[in-house]
Amino acid sequence: MKITRYKKVQKYLKFYQNNFGFHQPYQVLIDGTFCFAAFKEQINIREQLPKYLNGQLKLLTTRCVIIETERIAKKTHGALTILKQYGIHECGHKEPVSGAKCIMSMIGNSNEKHYILATQDRDLQDKLRAKAAIPLLYLHNKSPTLAKPSKASYDKAGQTLQCSTVFISETQNETLKSMKKALGVEDKVEEIKVPIKKKKTHNPNPLSCKKKKKKPNTKQQTTKREGVSEGKVKKRRNKKAPRIIKDQLKYPPQ
Ligand SMILES: [Zn+2]
Repeated sequence: MKITRYKKVQKYLKFYQNNFGFHQPYQVLIDGTFCFAAFKEQINIREQLPKYLNGQLKLLTTRCVIIETERIAKKTHGALTILKQYGIHECGHKEPVSGAKCIMSMIGNSNEKHYILATQDRDLQDKLRAKAAIPLLYLHNKSPTLAKPSKASYDKAGQTLQCSTVFISETQNETLKSMKKALGVEDKVEEIKVPIKKKKTHNPNPLSCKKKKKKPNTKQQTTKREGVSEGKVKKRRNKKAPRIIKDQLKYPPQ
């Protein structure tokens, strides 16, 4: 179960990387509801999220989110202490707005700063799902969970993919043509290879040259043989002798 969980996360993260330019360290924008849930479930966000996303993270929040969490009753005191540990990204709200509004303004039209949004706020999640290129992180009981990319994200990625596939198809045609050419060349190369093999058959001629080289050696050997030849002749005589004996043996019966 765990392996498939991590595989899913990596698959989703790659989707955001490939289509929308997300990269490490991931900027995780965290709101009060997420911190409240983490505090309630006794989860160490700083430890668990990098493990789950298998990457370096910047944990961030905004002033508006902190102020909103401060305003809500003492229940959220634990969440507030967690929130205050994180880096604060400037939202530019002189008059603090609600956390959800602030986050929506941080995202802007296209989430240019590549925030991963960590929130338990269902309404905010729905608003974020309607936009493309916003990874959603939430706590499912005690498990941090990266939501499947929204339809809006897939649609936008699909557009970019379609655009790229047009390019790919053109390039594919070119590559196919070049491949065919290459194949034709390869056939020619094979044809050429055969005469090369014939040339290899011509190569034995140099072997005959080697024989020529051997000849002087043989001459030297022959000179040696001339010396040795006497012994050989003697041996031959020895060999002939038995034949004669055989002949002699054969003759007597006649
Ligand atoms: Zn703000």
